[in-house]
Amino acid sequence: MANYEKLYEKINEIIGDLTPLKADCGVLCGHACCKGDENTGMRLFPGEISNLKVKETEDGTLLAVCEGRCNRNERPLSCKIFPFFPCVDGDKKVYVELDMRAKRLCPLVEHADEIRFDPRFLRAVERVGKILVKDEKCFEFLMKNTEEIDMFGALLG
Ligand code: SF4
Ligand code: SF4
Repeated sequence: MANYEKLYEKINEIIGDLTPLKADCGVLCGHACCKGDENTGMRLFPGEISNLKVKETEDGTLLAVCEGRCNRNERPLSCKIFPFFPCVDGDKKVYVELDMRAKRLCPLVEHADEIRFDPRFLRAVERVGKILVKDEKCFEFLMKNTEEIDMFGALLG
């Protein structure tokens, strides 16, 4: 079993304070992605520990439930990389994509063509993906999410 504590420590160092824009994108949307409640949650990556309340879905996915507030440094990895995702192909090649599952929620996805994202953030998400892909459980998780993102991309354009 991988040493997940070390793995996520390293990942958190890589992401640091980086965010998709150099400015706070929450002013655009009233922090739409942080309107959590009892019925929604952010998926935890394999082996990721959260100080938030965690619930398990029927298919065994663990969700961190936040009710719209968290200690920023301890927010789940899904929140740190949102609205991007380190997608993978079958050869374990990592490529960073907008997470099309967030298209209806996040103005950054809707208006991505007009936005200059912070390249340091995008590079950090790619580095994170390259670390995750080396762990088999994380690779499977990345694959599953990539398939979902592709499906949403195909439906929503
Ligand atoms: S929904 Fe998108 S634009 Fe709004 S705070 Fe979240 S990431 Fe930023
Ligand atoms: S855990 Fe924090 S960053 Fe993530 S959705 Fe909740 S309030 Fe927002």
